[in-house]
Amino acid sequence: MLIKSPSIILHRYPYSDSSWVVKALTASQGVVSFLVKGGKRHEFSFKNALDPLSFSEIVFKKTSKSELYFIKEASLIKWFPEMRNNLEALAIAQVMAEVILRYTPQEAELEKEFSLLLNAFESLDSSPISPSILVQWLFEINDLWGYTIAIQYCVKCGTTLKEAPGDFFPELGGCLCKNCASDSVPRANPLFLKDLWLFNQNMPLEKIPLMEKAFLLYLQRHLGSSQEIHSVQWLKEVRKICSQ
Ligand SMILES: [Zn+2]
Repeated sequence: MLIKSPSIILHRYPYSDSSWVVKALTASQGVVSFLVKGGKRHEFSFKNALDPLSFSEIVFKKTSKSELYFIKEASLIKWFPEMRNNLEALAIAQVMAEVILRYTPQEAELEKEFSLLLNAFESLDSSPISPSILVQWLFEINDLWGYTIAIQYCVKCGTTLKEAPGDFFPELGGCLCKNCASDSVPRANPLFLKDLWLFNQNMPLEKIPLMEKAFLLYLQRHLGSSQEIHSVQWLKEVRKICSQ
């Protein structure tokens, strides 16, 4: 059966001397692995359509025998040149691609994940990029996968928050109001609690890496996954380089 699907290339690595394995998020079939035999030979005919982080249309053959599918045609729709020109935007895109690659089930229908990722890449391809784009994206991915982070109300008493939360309990699903948190010294960093409030109010965040880390940990905790996202380290280094 031939399938034609818009796809975002998540990862590509060599397989034997001349072939590639390409992992892509497709709109209709979820995350799919392709074996591109003689990948280097085909490099010219597929142009940049199989470059990691490209948005392409792929026609592929689905067989029941193997988990690796074969690409019949691949044509580039968007290469996101501005995103690739901006080191930080590129590193953020890599974190997103890795989260999808590591944490989504193979071949589930992932249409919403697909549009969420595509929209994020579109935003990363414009300048200036929104500084909190990864925070926002991680918030939405948590929500999409059923782990909504409660930032608007207290998870203990249900009261709508009218100021910064008193604490943050991932295991309870989010923020605690100051009343409910008053018995103990907050476990969460006060700067993080302040940013949760700013995020709730759609205001610019002050400690973005702290928020990114917390929302990623929140996701990992709820997925029960100890699989690390390696591109996070790269993003950290890129920011260090860019701020010098
Ligand atoms: Zn409360």
